[in-house]
Amino acid sequence: MPIDLEFPRNHQVIGRHNHADVQHYHYVWGPGKTAEAAENEEVKAAYQTRGEEIVPLGVHGTMVALDFDSCIADGSCIEVCPVQVFQWYRTENDVPAIDMANATSAGTGSIVKEERKDYTDKSDPIREHDCIWCMACVSVCPTQAIKVDQSNLEFHEKASGTFSEALSKSTSPPPHAH
Ligand code: SF4
Repeated sequence: MPIDLEFPRNHQVIGRHNHADVQHYHYVWGPGKTAEAAENEEVKAAYQTRGEEIVPLGVHGTMVALDFDSCIADGSCIEVCPVQVFQWYRTENDVPAIDMANATSAGTGSIVKEERKDYTDKSDPIREHDCIWCMACVSVCPTQAIKVDQSNLEFHEKASGTFSEALSKSTSPPPHAH
């Protein structure tokens, strides 16, 4: 099951993954689901080797959204992104993915496709704010785990409490003055 294209409407914010620069962060949307990762032989074997359970993880990011439950650690998105939005989260924080919902990362993880820690790793949109909307990652993902949509900024801002109705409608004519 690929990423739910309507995830900001159908899911709720379950975490905030902070960037260590203090300025940036991305939201995590849940609940997660049982999807491609739970059915993939390489992923299952890697979890077994670690003695970790496969649990629903949800979607990391809002404008650049990557469904961790659909991610099978292929890494094509990491390789193709021209501005290094993604990193292998486990190469910086080697903890179960569920712990990343409210983690802080410095963005020092690997951005090389074949440098995944193992197949329990996930491609994490730690630099979501740098996306240039080229859509390359969306088209290469083998499980359609990624949704990129600039207009989802509205959901990010609503979750942050910074959403401004006036700004979002800045193309509308100004109201009459009386
Ligand atoms: S849309 Fe392009 S710039 Fe944005 S995360 Fe995907 S590959 Fe990177």
